[in-house]
Amino acid sequence: MSGTIEVIEPATEAVMAELPRAGAEEVDAAVARAKAAFPAWRDVAPGDRASLLHRLAEALEERSGDLATLEARNAGKPIGDARGEIGMVVETFRYYAGAPERLLGKTIPVAGGVDMTFREPLGVVAMIVPWNFPLTIASWKVAPALAAGNVVVLKPAELTPLSALELERIALEAGLPEGVLNVVAGPGSVCGRQLVEHPDVAKVAFTGSTEVGRGIAAGAAETIKRVTLELGGKSANLVFADADLEAAAAAAPGAVFGNAGQDCCARSRILVERSVLDEFMAALAPVVEAIAVGDPLDEATQMGPLISAGQREAVAAYVPDDAPVAIRGDVPEGEGYWYPPTVLAPVANDDRAAREEIFGPVACVIPFSGEAEAIALANDTIYGLSGSVWSGDGGRALRVARALETGVISINSNTSVRVSTPFGGFKQSGVGRELGPDALDHYTEVKNVYYATGED
Ligand code: NDP
Repeated sequence: MSGTIEVIEPATEAVMAELPRAGAEEVDAAVARAKAAFPAWRDVAPGDRASLLHRLAEALEERSGDLATLEARNAGKPIGDARGEIGMVVETFRYYAGAPERLLGKTIPVAGGVDMTFREPLGVVAMIVPWNFPLTIASWKVAPALAAGNVVVLKPAELTPLSALELERIALEAGLPEGVLNVVAGPGSVCGRQLVEHPDVAKVAFTGSTEVGRGIAAGAAETIKRVTLELGGKSANLVFADADLEAAAAAAPGAVFGNAGQDCCARSRILVERSVLDEFMAALAPVVEAIAVGDPLDEATQMGPLISAGQREAVAAYVPDDAPVAIRGDVPEGEGYWYPPTVLAPVANDDRAAREEIFGPVACVIPFSGEAEAIALANDTIYGLSGSVWSGDGGRALRVARALETGVISINSNTSVRVSTPFGGFKQSGVGRELGPDALDHYTEVKNVYYATGED
């Protein structure tokens, strides 16, 4: 143990909690507890494991008001958004509560016997999660991992550890056996690294920056750990001249300023067909200027502060004095890590603001001419997480969606994250898929068993 974590409320800059900071020893102890709990948890009958996960979902639902307030205060997100996120946490546990009884194998025709496959749990799975959607992203990993019979050590971000610690308490109260879900709150450079290097950890599931993800993949290679990585993004929102421009302009701000832009799915490059650029900008301006930025606990708030002073500094560096600021919203004065919704236009796709993940409320509008250029610009990035296509021509919309090198895409909509559908990135946005049926593949190993039935 090394000192204490002071948890800061980003809207007030005040300390909202203090807790012991875990170090390498606490990680080792958590991994040992998980390892000891594994054989019994793996052997819980599928229906009983399903019931326990349902009970956990119910317990979370009962506590959802408190959890939403905690998340809104600690992560600085609007209370309405926080409620939606805790709702998704509950839904995620419910969805995967259906999994233990549906982890089906195959029978494969072979000579001389019967061949069958089993989906076996991995053992101790470490999860390293970020501060932008603390409990939601944790649930995307914890729920399928537990459903498949794994045991978990979860490391939340030091900036936002409170909801994960609540989850650990609630899980115990709901009847999950001791040691099945363990939370260690400590720094990534110590606790995260220890989990990545630990010989008793079978897999690391990580969400965060591409840079740290790269280090985790390299570290995990030492012990051939399984790894899933959900990393950064610089997603494109393509608006063609034949789209419903009012609808596209009304939806674009939410897709980049949601969670104050601290969202790996943020559609932070808005690609607009040159012939309708002026019309689009005129429709976009009033929507951006009307965004209510303020106290996360105020029901009217649509955007809160950034997570930290450091994050605000990093975001501001993308908007120097000579930046082409076309639209800018308001922010409250006084304490809090505020940054206004900002639209830069026009921006070239090779400008720094268009290439790097800003992770703040800054959008770049990039004009294009024609379908081929739109696709080329959208794909000209190291990332490939999310994106949207707005067009009134169904054939074009689907053609472009298929041509984009990105894992999650929506047509005439900017929503693409659902509990029941796969989520994850192409290229340097990551490896593997979360949510939907696909996540379970990443928390199980396939075992093949051949049973000889006849004489040789
Ligand atoms: P990080 O990638 O540093 O943090 C994510 C998680 O990884 C945290 O739990 C962190 O712990 C942990 N971590 C940090 N270093 C290590 C390490 N060496 N080994 C193992 N685990 C580690 O993100 P930041 O918080 O620094 O944010 C920086 C940028 O990353 C953002 O501006 C954004 O661009 C991107 N990002 C992307 C996210 C996404 O959803 N894809 C989420 C968050 C950030 P701790 O913080 O406690 O030290």
